[in-house]
Amino acid sequence: MAFVTTAGLEPVTRWDWAWFGLLAGAAMIHLEASRGIERLRELGEGTPYTHMQSTWFFAAVLMLPLPLQTALIVISFTHEWFRVFHCRAIAHRKVFSASTVVLAVAAATLVLHAFYPDVDGPFVAALTGPYGTVAVLAAGLVYRAVNYLLVIGAIIATHPDQPARISLGPPSDQLIIAAAIGLGYGIAVFAVDRPWSMPILLITVLALHLGLLLPQLREASRTDAKTGLVDAAWWTGTAERELERAGRLDSPVGVLMLDLDHFKHINDQYGHLAGDAVLRAVADTLHHSVRSYDLVGRWGGEEFVILLPGIDAPEIADTAERVRAAVSVLRVATTDRTGTRVTITGLTASLGAGTYPATATELSPLLLAVDDALYRAKHGGRDQVQQAGTVPPARTPTD
Ligand code: GH3
Ligand code: MG
Ligand code: MG
Repeated sequence: MAFVTTAGLEPVTRWDWAWFGLLAGAAMIHLEASRGIERLRELGEGTPYTHMQSTWFFAAVLMLPLPLQTALIVISFTHEWFRVFHCRAIAHRKVFSASTVVLAVAAATLVLHAFYPDVDGPFVAALTGPYGTVAVLAAGLVYRAVNYLLVIGAIIATHPDQPARISLGPPSDQLIIAAAIGLGYGIAVFAVDRPWSMPILLITVLALHLGLLLPQLREASRTDAKTGLVDAAWWTGTAERELERAGRLDSPVGVLMLDLDHFKHINDQYGHLAGDAVLRAVADTLHHSVRSYDLVGRWGGEEFVILLPGIDAPEIADTAERVRAAVSVLRVATTDRTGTRVTITGLTASLGAGTYPATATELSPLLLAVDDALYRAKHGGRDQVQQAGTVPPARTPTD
């Protein structure tokens, strides 16, 4: 709407297109580089998703006419829809989020128009002296306030019983947004004065984004130190949320459970340190055998679990077979307990596979059924995949 109604008002110059290309390119590189961490953050926390992309949106407020600001937001959200959410989100919510950002940049642009009624080009060149600083601060505040109040209003309206702490999001989000807006201002000033400094600014944004959030995430996700995978508690919490989401989206979720065969023999033959090296190698193999947004966890000991959003019953068999085959060709170079270099081969694993909602509609019975299938794979001679049977929904006392 904003795009259509404003397209005729402000002429778009060749320079505008150049800045637009620069900002859109930087926003896309930024999102590509951070999409893994954003995906985990989004899966893990379930609170409003903080947008470091605001850096580019606020830079656009200062550098571009409104139609191109809107186009940048549409490109960023579309990119995110495919690459962070893999089309697995509620579409109208994402459209709503994008619209709140469009309204926020429009409001910030209006503020700048109020400060500089005579400027019709990019505002960034006019922002000088203390007056310029006040104008940027006012525009930044309005940008955040409009976006935040609309999002919070929608969350409170749709979840009136949710505790305020969850609806309002963590206070640290406000600091992250403040930093994003400040960086956006710096980028706009530098880009216009010295366009070639853009790669340096992009690296700065990326390094801050990943550097500040990765340790936080590691802490929050309680990563298993030995394998680098998420632990069972975090995996289970995430799986619960993913099943809820799948229920809303009416889409399936696959679950695999894997147990290494005769792993005790590896420890007995080569020692526990070599055993640990095998566990690390298996964890890496699992991670690389599935899609980037599938969640591999260490269930305990030499047992692993994998959550596969969007995978249904026919597909899970192929995925499980691919994982089994990947483990069976693994070669792990390590040292045995005497310090001699050895290459461990011939590893095998047994797998149980099941899906929501075909196997079960709740996580606990689904995991029990998959565990039972794994048990059958062990008893069937190991090095194989077994499918879980269907578990009928639990009967409630009123049934
Ligand atoms: P099965 O085919 O029936 O699964 O046989 P298994 O030997 O793999 O199964 P079992 O459950 O009898 O033994 C699992 C072994 O895994 C026992 C334990 O020493 C080993 N293990 C568990 N956690 C670790 C670990 O962190 N490091 C090492 N090196 N070994 C571990
Ligand atoms: Mg075991
Ligand atoms: Mg085992």
